[in-house]
Amino acid sequence: MRMIAAASAREILTGLHEVMASRATAQAKLNKVVQIIGEALASEVCSIYLRREGVLELFATRGLNQEAVHVTKLAMGEGLVGTIAEQIATLNLDEATSHPDFAYKPETGEELFHSFAGVPIIRKEDAVGVLCVQHAEPRRYEEVEIEALQTVAMVLSELIANAGLIDNAEARGSKVQNTAALRLNGLKLVDGMAKGHAVFHQPRITIEHTVAEDIEAERHRVYSAFDKMREQIDKMASQAEFGGEGEHRDVIEMYKMFAYDEGWSRRINEAIDSGLTAEAAIERVQQRTRMRMRQIDDPLLADRMHDLEDMSNRLLRIVSGQLASAAQAGLRRDTILIARNLGPAELLEYDRRRLKGVILEEGSLTAHVIIVARAMGIPVLGRVKDIRRLISDGDLLLVDVGQSAVFVRPTPAMEEAFETQLAVTQKRRAGFAALKREPPVSKDGLRVTLMINAGLRDDIAALDATGADGIGLFRTEFQFLVSATMPQRERQLRLYRDVIEAAGKKPVVFRTVDIGGDKALPYMRQDDEDEENPAMGWRAIRVALERDGLMKAQARALIEAAAGTTLNVMFPMVSEPWEFDQARAIFEKQREFLIARGKRIPREIRYGAMLEVPALAECLDLLLPKLEFISIGTNDLTQFLFAADRAHPKLAERFDWLSPAILRFLSRVVKQCDAANVPVTVCGEMGGRGLEALALLGIGIERLSITPAAVGPIKAMIRSLNVADARSVVNGLLQTPPESIRAVLGEWAMQNKVEI
Ligand code: PEP
Ligand code: MG
Repeated sequence: MRMIAAASAREILTGLHEVMASRATAQAKLNKVVQIIGEALASEVCSIYLRREGVLELFATRGLNQEAVHVTKLAMGEGLVGTIAEQIATLNLDEATSHPDFAYKPETGEELFHSFAGVPIIRKEDAVGVLCVQHAEPRRYEEVEIEALQTVAMVLSELIANAGLIDNAEARGSKVQNTAALRLNGLKLVDGMAKGHAVFHQPRITIEHTVAEDIEAERHRVYSAFDKMREQIDKMASQAEFGGEGEHRDVIEMYKMFAYDEGWSRRINEAIDSGLTAEAAIERVQQRTRMRMRQIDDPLLADRMHDLEDMSNRLLRIVSGQLASAAQAGLRRDTILIARNLGPAELLEYDRRRLKGVILEEGSLTAHVIIVARAMGIPVLGRVKDIRRLISDGDLLLVDVGQSAVFVRPTPAMEEAFETQLAVTQKRRAGFAALKREPPVSKDGLRVTLMINAGLRDDIAALDATGADGIGLFRTEFQFLVSATMPQRERQLRLYRDVIEAAGKKPVVFRTVDIGGDKALPYMRQDDEDEENPAMGWRAIRVALERDGLMKAQARALIEAAAGTTLNVMFPMVSEPWEFDQARAIFEKQREFLIARGKRIPREIRYGAMLEVPALAECLDLLLPKLEFISIGTNDLTQFLFAADRAHPKLAERFDWLSPAILRFLSRVVKQCDAANVPVTVCGEMGGRGLEALALLGIGIERLSITPAAVGPIKAMIRSLNVADARSVVNGLLQTPPESIRAVLGEWAMQNKVEI
């Protein structure tokens, strides 16, 4: 039986190939198809039900009464056929009537038949119909016969879609919920509102042909695609850090496992044997896996399924030569980008004018891609579960990060509410803009220094637009991230000069390159290719001191760019004072070199260190006498204090910046810096959030460098705050912390009418 059935899949496909190529009408083709399948599987009955207007309609049959065609209809979930479609599952029964979902349709005359097997006809992960066979004898169909049916169902889905036999929405593969309006919730990553159409970062592959012309050629295509994919994965695994932040080491390991999984390639090969094209074979195997996984309710397996889907899509993209990312195709209209996760460089590839918002299935607040998005002013909603499954390419989306929501295919009422909210937000924003020329002075007269974080050339404009006091953190590595090749000294010099010129009298604090961690440079090879923990590994000043050619070039570019003015420079990830000494010495040497060459140099170079590694706080007494300023990078600092990867999606909401541990730590640092008369700034994302900024002022911070969009709201907060009061409240909270500092401080802010 096995052999007969195995041969039959191929036989059926050969038969179908002729039918598909013929000039007959779609209905005639379907009639022919049921004959071919019925004969091949020695079944008295073979029927095709297709979904039309939400119900499953009998479109063609061999063996049932012909009068029932286009008459018999089953709702989704009704009867065996409806169950198969709704659950996207296969049924194989020796006695159909004994199944609890069996529904008798007298017009079909099916009471004569006992055994029943049915498979869903799937289009883009959704059932658009059902193919079933019935037999007079009560017998269960063999596994290989079921597989033959599933293979045929794949081909049918192509025929059906091409012939326009089902509704457009259904042909697109939309699920019932894929046409309805939806509200999906996520995590606020970059505040803002956006309206646009869904574009998948990694577009779905459309399979054009399912039946192979030449089986050996298809096999060859799959082999070479596997080779290429394995090469890609090996490369990814051997890079010390990975482009996409979601691509953690364990994911890569999983990828590797799948890429080399013999079972997977063998099953694809078998599907090709049955007569499918390479693309259809990959998809066929994926469909089968999906069907199996649906029956197992295990979140861990679901995660693995996610990885396998990614791999399968990767293989499909390679084999079909379709584009790797939507950025390469170019955006045609207002876009909301949908992705599992993105790396900063990937985001920067998109056209900023058309990219209105981003929705991620993963994502965390201080991941660099989010910092880049914030700098670009692009709202991002993260941790939206299953978004890639629930929406279709081109769907209209309304993103309202303030509400932690995205509205999918909105109803007119949803759109109206969105527009109203948008108007409110714009009005608030106009209010903030009006504050532009007002100083950030608290109610009790403290003049706070409010600066912005920047990194791209376009960010310079934000200085004027916000009226900020300067650039407190210029992330020089962004230029490295957006370039295809290492930016040479001349190019660096030009950027720094433009920034300094545009800032005029306002100070700019340049941070030397911080690469490594989640900021990968594709063109820079890492020496240690197998870093376990890139964030705690070879990054920032550690790279710079070892590869000092890079640091020297940057030092010269900065010194030349700041000729005649004051250059403020700081070093990232300093862990011990000697690192600061060495970095400073490199700069000083370049300064002398330039003087010897008769070049103009800055009037003054002010050196600072970022405090991001907790160990440095223990040596402040040694460090403070050596430098002009300190800047606290709370993004890294908190990840190290809590031992919680800042890019790890599962930890995104676990720890609170308003925790006693962080605030007490910062408070000690501030006191020490104050005593040594060294100005201290907070430049992490924490300072751009209302309540966090309030707490920072409460522990004595008077200088903040924040994302430009936060300048208005933070200034409004400062202007409505009595800092002396805030200090005594925060002090009290740190001495005897309540269960939630956030809750108590929030309440206090509300009662005291502080604008948060
Ligand atoms: C920080 O770590 O807080 C910081 C400002 O630097 P980055 O986010 O670029 O690592
Ligand atoms: Mg940092």
